[in-house]
Amino acid sequence: MSAHRAGTIAVVGRPNVGKSTLVNALVGAKVSIVAPRAQTTRHRLMGIATFPEGQLMLVDTPGIHARQPKAMNRYMNRVARGSVEGVDAAALVVEAGRWLDDDTLAYDALREAKVPVVLVINKVDKIADKTKLFPFIAEITNGREFAAVHPVSALKSKGTPALVKDLLSLVPESEAHYPEDEITDRSQRFLAGELVREQLMLRLGEELPYSATVEIEKFEVDGALLRIAAVIWVERDSQKAIVIGKGGERLKAISTGARIGMEELFGSKVFLQTWVRVREGWADDEAALGRFGYD
Ligand code: GDP
Ligand code: MG
Repeated sequence: MSAHRAGTIAVVGRPNVGKSTLVNALVGAKVSIVAPRAQTTRHRLMGIATFPEGQLMLVDTPGIHARQPKAMNRYMNRVARGSVEGVDAAALVVEAGRWLDDDTLAYDALREAKVPVVLVINKVDKIADKTKLFPFIAEITNGREFAAVHPVSALKSKGTPALVKDLLSLVPESEAHYPEDEITDRSQRFLAGELVREQLMLRLGEELPYSATVEIEKFEVDGALLRIAAVIWVERDSQKAIVIGKGGERLKAISTGARIGMEELFGSKVFLQTWVRVREGWADDEAALGRFGYD
């Protein structure tokens, strides 16, 4: 049997390619929120995946992208590039059949950081004719240097065991850094806020731009029950009305969805209260970003 290994992998790529879905698939739990739109992952988060052969600390990142209209985008690009420093290797996640300029941007950033890059071609479940993958792979690997190439479906956990094997081969021989039941470096309080934000993303679609954020005001253990209070901050009264919905229906759905996610992730009953409050112009204000934990 080969030696136990442990190390850090940055999971990098443009928005929406499935980085967070991949981290969750490898960890085996939803530590990172997922939604079909850019800007879902706003913070750096580490998912911890433990296997008999070793442990991977997977740094999930906001997607690297070229446009920078606001303070929030500057913050996200900083986080994405900073995540590459000090890691043992990187997984560059791209979408099967689509290589865009932002993929080149991500690849170049990784080459500059001089880390070994494993190319993860995700969403292969969407390609009906798998023979189409061969020319695509040949084209995107031409002239580029990858430690390994893995077509996978993070959503269906297809192809992930082989990927794990190659990622482990790129990290040093070491004891595990975390106990095997530890799945993230983030607190339950943080994860609770993310689960509320995920529901906002899922239930508001394009109606709510990335101006909404979530603050957990209370996180208390009360016997077997978790008592959690969340505030959804928006920029305008009109957005507040949208979040609440007709007769409070949408806020109720958001709250129920988030509570179910929390109960699943924390393994306990949750009593969740949610409010919506207005704070103007925070997304373009560095000081306000700091207040909401984006520092
Ligand atoms: P990220 O922005 O790179 O972190 O992407 P997410 O993990 O948030 O995923 C973006 C969207 O792609 C979500 O709707 C996911 O459900 C979807 N997705 C992720 N992985 C797969 C996959 O393997 N197959 C398919 N069909 N969809 C996927
Ligand atoms: Mg993400």
